[in-house]
Amino acid sequence: MRARDCKIVATMGPASDPPERLAMLVEAGVNCFRLNFSHGAREDHARRFAAIREVERRLGKPIGVFADLQGPKIRVGMIAGGEIKLGYGQMVTLEASPEQGEGDVIRLPHPELVAALEAGDILKLDDGKLQLTVIERGARQVKARVDFGGVLKSQKGVNVPTRRIPISALTDKDKLDLAYALELGVDYIALSFVQHPDDIREARALVGDRAGIIAKIEKPSALELIDEIVELADAVMVARGDLGVELPPEQVPIAQRKIIRAARAAGRPVIVATHMLESMVEAATPTRAEASDVATAVYQGADAVMLSAESAVGRHPQSAVAIMDRIIRAVEADSEYWAGLPRDMTPPQATTADAIALSARHITDVLDCAAVVAYTATGSTALRVARERPRCGVVGLTPVTETARRLTLVWGVKSMVSPDVSNVEEMVASAEEAVRALGVVETGDRVVVIAGIPFGRAGKTNTIRIFRVE
Ligand code: PGA
Ligand code: MN
Repeated sequence: MRARDCKIVATMGPASDPPERLAMLVEAGVNCFRLNFSHGAREDHARRFAAIREVERRLGKPIGVFADLQGPKIRVGMIAGGEIKLGYGQMVTLEASPEQGEGDVIRLPHPELVAALEAGDILKLDDGKLQLTVIERGARQVKARVDFGGVLKSQKGVNVPTRRIPISALTDKDKLDLAYALELGVDYIALSFVQHPDDIREARALVGDRAGIIAKIEKPSALELIDEIVELADAVMVARGDLGVELPPEQVPIAQRKIIRAARAAGRPVIVATHMLESMVEAATPTRAEASDVATAVYQGADAVMLSAESAVGRHPQSAVAIMDRIIRAVEADSEYWAGLPRDMTPPQATTADAIALSARHITDVLDCAAVVAYTATGSTALRVARERPRCGVVGLTPVTETARRLTLVWGVKSMVSPDVSNVEEMVASAEEAVRALGVVETGDRVVVIAGIPFGRAGKTNTIRIFRVE
């Protein structure tokens, strides 16, 4: 009866585009899709968005969609001849200029970056394949030494782990993409290269309540302020791709644990992302290490795990989803998982809603229950129950379609759109209908319902009812 609790996010791309592929991905287990605005034209995202909504309508279950903005990804400028060879110990000059670099002058079209650099700062080029250390800064230029060299090609990425660059997490492109994505009607906006809580505040001022905000943690400066960032965001992503460039590899697993803990403590959903089943871009099966990596995220209590290139451009998108689903189910069937799963992570506040959500979980600890049904307008009641990690599934019943979609990222929650009820009899009848339709109960099973009376008002959860399915 128990459904899978940890959710699956898949990135859209050419590999997910063929007709019928999308429905197959959903049937294989995808709960939420990512539109990656670092690649493709806006029209591609619009087309994919429409296809997801069409599949949602056809399959009759909520599917989440988030727009992942590129963010201030810093790149070197054009290089004369397309590339430059950098040798160990060589000195180079970095200059802020839109012009093409020549000789040992590397030009960067980012004046804020060059102005912020100081002696001792580290620059990682091309996903960390090359590294420079700043030796000395001048008025408009910086001298740097090559720590490990190689061939640097035009427009390769630059990461500066040692410094917060005074730039917003939203570039001009991001602002246009953001407006476009909100117009489409995405459920969440993911912000890349968040450095500071102010980045979330800035995005919130533009997004309002039209979508949730996912803070991608991929900068050491964000790790230092993780609690405040998590508090301001609606969800968090452990973005291990860029995080792994900014941090030495041995620090990535530690950062992952820290981010998951911070998110769980604040009751925010957390997605573990990047390279989870990377070898399946080509291969038909994952490596043992990859299977173990997905399992670790599930044991740690992640709300969701994510596929990137595997589903966007890989050769086996559907198998990647199916295998992720199997790994998650296997972990969730292990009694060690439940024994080790941190449950009292989020200190309840002295509110009626928190007290009710906590009590619902306590009831499921004492009585054998098949589900907790939460009537929820904004999703927060379902989220509160889910963060307690009850042993039975959580059903989020909401009259608001957008809420049902946002809950697709949340551990353990099955969401369903259902009209408002007006009295306790209707509340029980409608909850019973929902758990039957979702296939999470059998006749005779016990179900806990929580709701707010009087009905139809947000934020008023104050009632618990237990019933048996007849
Ligand atoms: P990206 O973000 O795929 O947009 O770069 C995820 C990551 O960096 O891990
Ligand atoms: Mn990234």
